[in-house]
Amino acid sequence: MTKGLTYFPPNTKVGRRIMSAASRLVYGKPTISPEVAAFNAEVDRKKREKKAANRAKRLANPELVYGPGTNTGHGHVWVRPDNFKYYCGGPAMCADCSRDFLKYGESK
Ligand SMILES: [Zn+2]
Repeated sequence: MTKGLTYFPPNTKVGRRIMSAASRLVYGKPTISPEVAAFNAEVDRKKREKKAANRAKRLANPELVYGPGTNTGHGHVWVRPDNFKYYCGGPAMCADCSRDFLKYGESK
């Protein structure tokens, strides 16, 4: 290998980026056929609809909302119904737990 020249193998992240830029230079910007574009738009629309439906469901059911008494959080600030505890160290060590602690206090 030449001194001062760094070689990025094509199977690495940087190598792929370089190969992609090179092929763009040679072949131009990739074009998407109208059928593929329509298919992608359809997939995106379905994803958005699913997300909106999940959000509506979450807001409609109080037990799915984040907070004490729910299966949310790390299990240190409030005891989760499923008794699960993250190995995160609790409010003293974990950013999420300390935020929950400040917001909800110590319940149990
Ligand atoms: Zn935590």
